Parts: sequence; structure tokens; C-alpha cells
Amino acid sequence: LRVALPHHELVLYYQLQVDSSGQFIGAEALLRWSHPQLGMVSPAQFIPVAEETGLILPIGHWVLETACAQLASWEAEPRLRHLSIAVNVSARQFREPGFVAQVHDALKRSGIRPEVLKLELTESLVLDNVEDSIRKMKELKKLGVKFSMDDFGTGYSSLAYLTRLPIDQLKIDQSFVRDITTDPNDAAIVHAIISMSRSLGMEVIAEGVETEAQRAFLELHGCLAYQGYLYAKPLPIADVERKLSGLQ
Ligand code: C2E
Ligand code: MG
Ligand code: MG
Repeated sequence: LRVALPHHELVLYYQLQVDSSGQFIGAEALLRWSHPQLGMVSPAQFIPVAEETGLILPIGHWVLETACAQLASWEAEPRLRHLSIAVNVSARQFREPGFVAQVHDALKRSGIRPEVLKLELTESLVLDNVEDSIRKMKELKKLGVKFSMDDFGTGYSSLAYLTRLPIDQLKIDQSFVRDITTDPNDAAIVHAIISMSRSLGMEVIAEGVETEAQRAFLELHGCLAYQGYLYAKPLPIADVERKLSGLQ
């Protein structure tokens, strides 16, 4: 993993996100490690190691810079400039004293409008040190970037803190979406998250949408943004751009 970055073995895949009319609204950047012997290694396998060793810092920095460069390239094309990119931020990266400056520099270097960059944080990350999180998120918010709460509903959701954080979007975890049409408990949770996002004035997106039945349930209950295999798997940028140009 130590040589993955200098050897250019890390790749960003992008998974498209769509609205209820099927239009592309953005993408989530998902890291892949293209290992010379092991093939494609899943982030679920190497992110924990990267966190432990601190390698997540240079890796996370590279992800941020790469995503911003991609946004700059889309911004140059009128039909793509509305697209956003969501970047996953790890706890260690977020806690680094220089994180806000790093985001600021990435925005300046790429010249993008800050609102097309979305930072995905998890509840456990935010709640681990709430006061530091609130302060940092407010500083980042001043730069103009957006926040999405990843895997929402799986952590210790503190509803009191939720209202104190400048969150733009709740991302419904795929574990709830999976059985939405068969498990009344999951359906109830999803329904509650959607209502809550509405009352708090936040957007909501569902991840792991695989079937039309799931999408229909979500739309019926007021969730109008989706990400999942139903639309696209995480893909290399060339495939994403083919999809964006309607060729595939
Ligand atoms: P996540 O941010 O919750 O990402 C969603 C995961 O769900 C992705 O797995 C994606 O491929 C998968 N997925 C998307 N649509 C579907 C679907 O319809 N069905 C199913 N069953 N799965 C779907 P992936 O790419 O393996 O990423 C796993 C986790 O690794 C991510 O979870 C995120 O926590 C972490 N990760 C990925 N890239 C980065 C990164 O650049 N930085 C950091 N810090 N973490 C990352
Ligand atoms: Mg994510
Ligand atoms: Mg997630």
C-alpha cells in the first residue's frame, strides 16, 4: 500500500447519481487499488489499513485533488457543469489540523465552484468529537462546499447534534434500502429518515438502489435522488463519460 500511490496503482471510480426523472446529478468517487498481482482490491480491504498506518493522509489528499480536477474538466463543458462529486472523507483525514486548508487549496488549484464538491462524512466520525466536527464543518461550509452524511441510520444518530451541524444531505444506508420492499421495519426507518430530512430542510439520497421496486418505494415516500446498480456500478472515468454522453 505504501508504494500504491507513487506507483500510480490507485484509481478513482465514479458511481453516477440520478434524480427521479432519471437525469444524472452527480457521482460518488470510490477508490480502487489496481494491484499488479492481486488485481482490483476493494477499499473495504485497504482503507482500514490505510487508516491505521496513516497512509490515508496522502491517499485522501490525492483523492480530493483528483476529484477536483475531474470537476474542473466537467465545469468546462456546459452540459456537464451541474454535476457534483461526493468524496469520502476518513476520520483520520478529517481530524488532521490541516484538513480545511487542504480543501481550500484543492478548490483554489482547480478553480471549481465549491458547491459542486460534496464531502461525505459518517455519523461516527462526526460524533466522535462533536465540538471539533462542528467547528471544522462550519469552516468548510464557509468555503462553500457541501456535506452529505454517509451510511445514515447505521451509527448512533444523535438527533440533537444533527440540527447543529451544517449538513446538506442525508444518505440512506444501503442496508435499509436492500429490504425496503419486504421488511416493514426497514421501510419504516427509511420513511422516517426521509421525513426527517424534509423537516430539517436537508436533501436525501438513497444508496444501494438495485431494483425498480426499491426506487418506486423511495420516490413514493419523497426520496428523489438515487445511487445504485439499478443505474450504474462504480466505473472508470471513461465509462462514466460514455454514460454521460448517452452513448451507453
Ligand atoms: P460507501 O461510501 O458507503 O460507498 C458505497 C459502497 O456501496 C461502494 O462500495 C459501492 O460500490 C457500493 N454500492 C454502490 N451501489 C451499490 C448497489 O446497488 N448494491 C450494492 N450491494 N452495493 C453498492 P465500495 O466502492 O467497495 O466502497 C466501500 C467503502 O469504502 C465506501 O463505502 C467508503 O466508506 C470507503 N471508500 C471508498 N472510497 C474511499 C475514499 O476515497 N476515501 C475513503 N476514506 N473511503 C473510501
Ligand atoms: Mg460514501
Ligand atoms: Mg455509504
